[in-house]
Formats: sequence, C-alpha cells, structure tokens
Amino acid sequence: MSDVELIDSHCHLIFENFEKDLEEVVLRLRSRGVKKLVHACCEPREIPKIKKLSREFNEIFYSVGLHPLESKKWEPSSKSLLKSAALDDRKVVAIGELGLDFFKSEDKTLQINALIPQMELAFELELPVIIHCRDAANEMIKLCNDLAKKGTCPRGVLHCWTGTPEEMKQFLDLGFYISFSGIVTFPKVHHIHKCAKIVPHDKYLIETDSPFLAPVPHRGKRNEPAFVENVANYLADLRSTELITIAKESSKNAEDLFKFDLLS
Ligand SMILES: [Zn+2]
Repeated sequence: MSDVELIDSHCHLIFENFEKDLEEVVLRLRSRGVKKLVHACCEPREIPKIKKLSREFNEIFYSVGLHPLESKKWEPSSKSLLKSAALDDRKVVAIGELGLDFFKSEDKTLQINALIPQMELAFELELPVIIHCRDAANEMIKLCNDLAKKGTCPRGVLHCWTGTPEEMKQFLDLGFYISFSGIVTFPKVHHIHKCAKIVPHDKYLIETDSPFLAPVPHRGKRNEPAFVENVANYLADLRSTELITIAKESSKNAEDLFKFDLLS
C-alpha cells in the first residue's frame, strides 16, 4: 500500500470499456492511495448508473449535469431534474460537467442556454461547478464576470486545464480552482507546464478524466484513476517538490472545494 493519499477530482467509469474489469480498476486505485474520486456526469440519463457505482464503492462521489457537447439535450425540465438528483443524494458534490466547447461545436446559443441555468442551480444549492472549457475561455470568463457582478457566481473548478497562464489568472481571480489532467505529462504543452508551475498551492486539483487522456507512460491506452499518481508525480517535478506535497495540497484543495466530509 502507498502512504500517499490522492483524490482523482474527475473521471468517468460508467463507460463500456470499464464493464469487464471495474473491480480490478478499483483495487488498483486503492493500492495507489487514491482515497476519493469525483465521477463526472455528461448527461442526466447517466445519473442512475453513476449513483449505483457510488453505492458499490465508498470512495466514489459524483456530479450531476449536462456537458456542453450534449447541449441539444437540455430541456425545460432539466434544471428541476438535476436539482432533485442533487438534493436526493448526499454523494452529489458538484454540478457538471457544464461549460462551453467551441472546438468541437460552434453552436454557442445552444451551449449558453444549457450553461446558465446550471450555473444558477449550483449557486442556489451552494454546490461547486465542474467546468469544461475548450477554445472558449474569453466567453466563459465574461459570463462568470457577469454573474460575479450580480454576486451569483458559484464556486468551481476548471477541469482538464488547457488554457494559457493569462486565462488561468482570470479564472483564479474569479475564485475558481484549476485541475490538471494527464495532458500536463505530455511534451510540448509549454503553456500548461507554465500554469502548473505558477498556480498557487491552494488552488489546484489533479484528475485523470478517465477513460480519456492517459498520462505518460500510459499514453494512448485506456486511462484509469490509479494513474492520477502519474499526474501528481509530473506536477511534483514541474513544481520542484515531492509527490507527498502534491498529494497533500491537491487533496486538501479537493476537500475544500467539494466538502466531502460534510456530505459523506
Ligand atoms: Zn469529463
């Protein structure tokens, strides 16, 4: 057993490629010291499956929400559906993943229509948001600034950070956390390395985004929560510190954001 304690702040385990060996995946993450995970939700239809997993495995907490690339599935009833799912289960620790993705879809209106009510819901329920933001930092920052001016911007995390240091600073100024995924272990992503070096010690999380984006040396394979240790190791190198420091800082930050203790 490892004496390092880690939290994978973002993963997806209900997909088909975990069907055959999920038990082993969980045993492996336990053996690597992963104590808690946040299972992200891409669309409300997934909630019963995720909830079931969170019953089977004590360390699984989850979010409820609609991913920006699923925005066409937003319906007038979606907000109340997410609200009751969140209120119904103490293992729901966030709303999301929500956000904007102009890399794979340009339908801005549709995405904003699904995003705003989810941000409102998170603020109302005092839950953090898990933000997916791709090629849309300026729009997302503007939208959050508008909410902040009204005093209704929820807390949250920018998951799978791929932005620039300048963009990161603006999200940090809004009070958000920044989460680093396996991408930070790739070569040539110099702006992400820079972000990982300068992010304040009390403002970053780590994640796998399993089954996607496996870190080096597993790149190209199915990702799994045990590999969050590789992300942590790489951050330790970038920040010239030890794995144990990254584990302690990122776990404390995840606890502060998701408040697992109050909810478990
Ligand atoms: Zn995700």
